[in-house]
Amino acid sequence: MNHLPFEDWLLNEEPLSPQQKLELQNHLANCTQCTQLAQAWSAVEDLMKHAPAVEPAPDFTQRWEGFLVGKQRKQIARRQRWITGLLLALTGGGALLLFILLNLDSLRNLPTIGEIFTRLLSNAALLIATIANIFDLAETIGNVLPFPIPLIVWIDLAMSFVLLCSAWIAIVFRLPHKRSINNETRD
Ligand SMILES: [Zn+2]
Repeated sequence: MNHLPFEDWLLNEEPLSPQQKLELQNHLANCTQCTQLAQAWSAVEDLMKHAPAVEPAPDFTQRWEGFLVGKQRKQIARRQRWITGLLLALTGGGALLLFILLNLDSLRNLPTIGEIFTRLLSNAALLIATIANIFDLAETIGNVLPFPIPLIVWIDLAMSFVLLCSAWIAIVFRLPHKRSINNETRD
């Protein structure tokens, strides 16, 4: 049995002429294959018609934008936390290094345990007092100024502080060395 053009007519969206409709009906009455195709196709069409429309919720755009802004804010906060941590580590590391280097010097020049201990304690106290003073000063500056100091300025100040400390360490380390050379030549 020839199923053309009936298969085409069934699957085609274009409307059929009354003559074509009659021919199709006659064919379907005798052809189970085309009847099955017609039924299957109409079922598919039904499904497509009644499928729920996939549309975004009305406030979807707003929520999405809010999500993006929140994400951005979180990223900025994370970056600031990271910079603050780095800054603290840098300053703390510098201070610790300074403390160790200062006390290396005292270990070399003051041999008795008691003196070393006293020197260590006094240096620690001095260091803590200095750091406390710096923090006090920073807080005072922060309170007095009518605007908040940007983080980058704090980083700058901390960097300058660390650089100054390094320079100081370099000078402190050179002096005893020179002194010992002078002593040797004098002897
Ligand atoms: Zn047929």
